[in-house]
Amino acid sequence: MSTIAIAGVEVDTRHWIGGRRVGSAETFTDVSPVDGAILGEISRGGSTEADAAVAAATAAFPAWARLTPRERGAILHAVADNVEAHIEQLANIETLDNGSLLRSHLRGVMPRVVMNIRFFADYVINDLHHPVWETRGHENHVSWDPSGPTVIITPWNAPLMLATWRIGPALASGDTVILKPPEWAPLTASYFADLAHEAGLPAGVFNVVQGYGPEAGAPLTLNPDVARICFTGSVPTAKVIARNAAENLIPCSFELGGKSPTVILDDADLDLAVDLAIEQYDNAGQVCLAGTRLLVQAGIAEEFAKRFAERAAQIRQGDPRDESTQIGPNIHLKHIERIQGFVDRARAAGATVAYGGEVNTAIGSHYFTPTLIVDAPAGSEILTQEVFGPVLTMQTFDTDEEGLAQANGTEFGLAACVVSGNRERAERFCAHLVAGTIWVNCFFVRDLAAPFGGSKKSGIGREGGLWSFDFYADVKNTVYSPNGWKE
Ligand code: NAD
Repeated sequence: MSTIAIAGVEVDTRHWIGGRRVGSAETFTDVSPVDGAILGEISRGGSTEADAAVAAATAAFPAWARLTPRERGAILHAVADNVEAHIEQLANIETLDNGSLLRSHLRGVMPRVVMNIRFFADYVINDLHHPVWETRGHENHVSWDPSGPTVIITPWNAPLMLATWRIGPALASGDTVILKPPEWAPLTASYFADLAHEAGLPAGVFNVVQGYGPEAGAPLTLNPDVARICFTGSVPTAKVIARNAAENLIPCSFELGGKSPTVILDDADLDLAVDLAIEQYDNAGQVCLAGTRLLVQAGIAEEFAKRFAERAAQIRQGDPRDESTQIGPNIHLKHIERIQGFVDRARAAGATVAYGGEVNTAIGSHYFTPTLIVDAPAGSEILTQEVFGPVLTMQTFDTDEEGLAQANGTEFGLAACVVSGNRERAERFCAHLVAGTIWVNCFFVRDLAAPFGGSKKSGIGREGGLWSFDFYADVKNTVYSPNGWKE
């Protein structure tokens, strides 16, 4: 069988290379975290399929790159239209495949997928100005040219959203794309390929290679014909990819893990602080940006902890297709083991599990209970390493200086959330926070035009708006002399 019947559609389980379906002799099993059901067998690609996909993207590049931004934009808007017409199917497929809430896929994530494509198509047409300035009578003309075949490698926590946030600017730039989706949630990438093809995206402009990272992803990163690599995932994988990319000096954009703080200053609106802290359990904690370290100023810590515990006790965990569910399952039993390992080691190191700390077996084996860990020893693993599950820690601090030191006290710097009632104080605090994105009295407000990326080990580079084009496009300066013209 080369398709899976899911959410009322047939999703192909093979690769999409050069505008046609290509299978592999071997497959891997795709399991739904919702109920542990086997969804199907997916083609398990290797270097043959990876090389074929790069060859297809290389062959398609000149014609795609030659189109004007307006011509490319028209095709990309047609792709976005078709995606928009299939939001319901995409949302249902993604929920069964990665376990995230159906209502958030329907109302937030998939509409954002559509926007990822529209926004960057329009940006090239309307906002990518080509500055011209003079140097001693000479004119500098800056342009953002297409780069070439671009490899995009994505994780499972928001597969299609994270993929299209790169596919959009890459295709709009005139690059062709090879996507390696996550092996734990591979289906929406495949369905997206069909939707894009139906909408008129030319063969070879977008390709999908399914498979495990070291087998299907690594050969993509080692191929000398690749012009750009965009990787979203963990720090250890980024190190492997950076070494591979160095072989051919391929520029990389890395969006990696985090251990972000939610800092609650003692002048904060406590109800707002509790709301924002509870939000950090979203997507069962599988959000790179999550502020999983609650840092609370000592004077309000007791009251905050009381109100937070009351709210946490009311969180409704369950089937992600149920409208009232707030937290669904975690992606895979191996991931559940990883989360449990973190909690067990935290306990062994002397921390206290205030609540949660185990699988909610009444619902199913993929559902880790929302957990809070307190009194963890300074510098211990649970306070410094990314769990990527519904596990928050709480620490207290006395002065703003101490809070700042705690907030900056990990090797990561992806994001931070600060809750304060005093604008000047918040500004002083944020000025010294090391993070790619800081939210003050809010969380997860993401504008596609704003720069996004991580400091320290949380990433290399920024994407969003012009920053995306600085990466995906080849920025060129052409200098025209006032001399030598014959007409
Ligand atoms: P991962 O690094 O294990 O895998 C990510 C992707 O890389 C997968 O598609 C995988 O198949 C592929 N891969 C693995 N080894 C590879 C190799 N040798 N060569 C090429 N590709 C390879 O990460 P994960 O567990 O899937 O995702 C969770 C991580 O992603 C967390 O650390 C999370 O914080 C991070 N993340 C970051 C962002 C961000 O924007 N900063 C967004 C979402 C997730």
